[in-house]
Amino acid sequence: MHFNELKERFLKTIFPEDIICLICGTELKVQNRFRLCSECLDSLPYITDDIGVCLRCGKPIYDEAHYCLECQNVKRYFLRVNSPFIYKGIAAKLTDDLKFYNKRYIGGLFGEFVATEYLRRGYNADILLPVPMFKKNKSDRGFNQSELIAGRAAELLGIEMLTDVLVKTRETKHQMSLGGFERHKNLIDAFAVTLPDKVKGKTVLLIDDVITTGATIDECAKVLLKAKAVAVLGLTACSTEYKLQTEKGFKNQYGIIKE
Ligand SMILES: [Zn+2]
Ligand SMILES: [Zn+2]
Repeated sequence: MHFNELKERFLKTIFPEDIICLICGTELKVQNRFRLCSECLDSLPYITDDIGVCLRCGKPIYDEAHYCLECQNVKRYFLRVNSPFIYKGIAAKLTDDLKFYNKRYIGGLFGEFVATEYLRRGYNADILLPVPMFKKNKSDRGFNQSELIAGRAAELLGIEMLTDVLVKTRETKHQMSLGGFERHKNLIDAFAVTLPDKVKGKTVLLIDDVITTGATIDECAKVLLKAKAVAVLGLTACSTEYKLQTEKGFKNQYGIIKE
C-alpha cells in the first residue's frame, strides 16, 4: 500500500466520533486523533529519543549507550522492539485498568499509539501476532489485552493479525518476580508455533502491552525464527525503565547518578 494512502486511511479510521476524553472524561472542544484532551495527551510519559533509547529493545536508558545492559549481555532473537510510553504515571494506570479492571477500550487506544509508533519508526511487517496468553489465563480474564492492542493496530495499518499461529503452552510465573537465570528457565518451551506455514518467509511483528526484561518477546521470537520467519519485530504499548530515583537525582542503567 502506498504511504499516503496508508496515512489517509489511518487518519480516517481513528478520527473520533465521541467527544469526551477517554482518560479524564472532559468534553473535547477540538476533536483529535486519539480522543484525548490536550492535558492528558501532554501528560503521557512518552519515550522520546532525547532520553536515550536502547536500539535493540527500545527501553529508555538515560545515557548515550547504544544498547541497554541486558541487550549488551544477552543474545536477542528479536531484531528490534519499540514502545510509545514508559510504564509509569498515566500510562501505567491505563495498562492496569486495561488488564485488571476490564477497560477494554484502552486496548484500542494503545493500538492507535502502537500503530503511530510503527509508522514513526519505519517498521515494515507482513503479519501481526499478539503475544499469546495461556488458554486458562485468557478465559479467566475474558480477553487477551495484547490481542485488543494488536487488533486495533492491525486494522489501522492494514496488516493481517493472526491469533492461531503462536500459542502459550503452559502457565509461567511473572517475570518481574524472578532473577536472571530463573527468568530464562521460566519461559523455556512456554511458546509454540502451531501453524509454521503461516510464518515461513514472513517478517513478523509481535504486539504486547508491556516490555520488562524483553525475555517474553525474545522467547516468542526464538520459536518464530525456528519456524522460518525471516525476522521478528516487536511493539509494546509501554516499557519499564532502568531509571532509579535517588536523593541526588537518578541512576541510569549503569548505576551512575545523574542530576
Ligand atoms: Zn483528558
Ligand atoms: Zn535493550
